[in-house]
This record gives sequence, C-alpha cells and structure tokens, in this order.
Amino acid sequence: MLNNLYSIRMRGAEGGPHEHGGRHISGGERLGQKEELQELAKELLDKSLHHSRGDCDFIQIVIEKLMDDEIQRISPLPISSEQAQNVKEGRKIAMSLLASLGISDEAIKNGIEFLKQSTHQRGAIIVDSQTGQRLDNRGLKGVRASRMDWSKESWEKWSKSHAPLISPRIREAIALASKVTASPYTVAELCWSDDLEYTTGYVASSSKGYIRIPHLKNNGEDCGGRIFFIKHNISLDDYITYMETTPVCISYEDEADMKGL
Ligand code: AMP
Repeated sequence: MLNNLYSIRMRGAEGGPHEHGGRHISGGERLGQKEELQELAKELLDKSLHHSRGDCDFIQIVIEKLMDDEIQRISPLPISSEQAQNVKEGRKIAMSLLASLGISDEAIKNGIEFLKQSTHQRGAIIVDSQTGQRLDNRGLKGVRASRMDWSKESWEKWSKSHAPLISPRIREAIALASKVTASPYTVAELCWSDDLEYTTGYVASSSKGYIRIPHLKNNGEDCGGRIFFIKHNISLDDYITYMETTPVCISYEDEADMKGL
C-alpha cells in the first residue's frame, strides 16, 4: 500500500535563491505516490505563489523516490487547545508548558527572544534545553525537518474526527511536530508562524502532545519560526541528519491510536 513513496518538497524566496540572500517566503513537505506527484507539485506551487509574506521569485521543487525500508511510520501527536485572550497570556501558557517539560528558564527566555526577532528564518533554531544556547550554526537556514507527511488514509481518518481543525496548515504542522518529537533527543518544540495574520502557535512534546495556543504574537507581525529544544550533550550531527533526511510517514497502526481533541 505504501510502496513507491516519493518525497516532494518546495522552498520559495523573494529576491533570489535563499543561498544568494533571498528572503524566505514559503516551504512545504509532502510524501506521495508516483501518480500523485503532479497534483502535489501543483499544491506546493500554489502555496508558494499565494503567500501573505511576499511574492516568490525563486521557487524550487525537489522530488526523490524513497526506499520503503527507510520510511519510519509514527502516529500523529494528540492535539489539544489552550485558551488565551492576548499575547501576554498566550506566551505565559507556552512558557509554563515548556517549564513543566523540564526546560530551563534561560532556554525558554532565549527561545522566545529568538522567535520575537526572527523574520527571515527558513528552518528551526536548535536550542539546548538546559543552557539555552543556540546549537546549530546555520544562521537563517536553520534546520528544516524534511521528508514527512501523513499517509493518505490516516489523514482522511484524522480529518473525520477533527473536522473543525482541518486545514493544510494544521496538516503540515502536526506532521512536522510528530516527526520532531518522535526523536528521543527532542524535549519540546515551540512554534508560531511568521505569517502576518496567523497568531496561533503551539508547544509540542512526546509526553503532552500538540498543544495549540492562541495569541503567541500580535496580528500583523512578521516574526515567528520554530525552536527545537533538545537534550543536553547529544550528538547534534545525528539529530540534524534525522530531521533533514529520515523519511517519516504519519500513520495509524489501528483505530485504537485515534486520539480525541
Ligand atoms: P509556517 O508554519 O509554515 O508558517 O512556518 C513558520 C516558520 O517555521 C518558518 O518561517 C520557518 O522558520 C519554520 N519552519 C517552517 N517549516 C519548517 C520545517 N519543515 N522545519 C523546520 N522549520 C520550519
């Protein structure tokens, strides 16, 4: 059923390619079978061409065939939502969740400061969950979690039980957070979008799942991104290799894996 999967990914920038100083506008990651690739390429192209952050003049789409035995299959994180009335409350909730996962105050403070200043970041910033130090030396490129998506069947199943939440954004974010937190070296991920009008973000972890938090920034701000908080003293190279290269398919083993809101 899952044979012949391909990874298809897109990156788009304004002002030339990212590596020549272009400003990151849009990215996307999907997996699909050969006969789905044209449709997926169209979806990713549409995404890059209609983005609130700007007008891409560089768009790259890369397609690679995957070997079935290299694909890891994992369940989606369970999803839940917190309530907040404004940015102060939203960030307070995010900070207390991160603290409850064992992340130091320094690391939480640094993570939030990184996201407040990040407007051109293409991939995640990796932060030591104890010292609060940024560990990747990647500048604006950061570390992109890549080669992950839902299986078609699992997304259909999930959509049926989470109708109010269905959107391409949630689809991508849960796939990404599920891959990121499936690494035993991830303590948590913090995200809010750098899209101007999207202010809901999340904290994700393997123990507490994917927790949506409204108002992590003010409407109209273009700052945002992702922080991967990782355990102290781990092999960064292995961690980055997993994020960038290991193909991960989000799929349910059986109905018992279906988790509620
Ligand atoms: P988005 O959720 O698409 O609005 O992305 C918000 C920010 O998260 C981007 O500008 C990047 O900094 C970061 N980001 C997006 N996709 C990835 C990814 N696949 N891996 C790591 N970071 C990402």
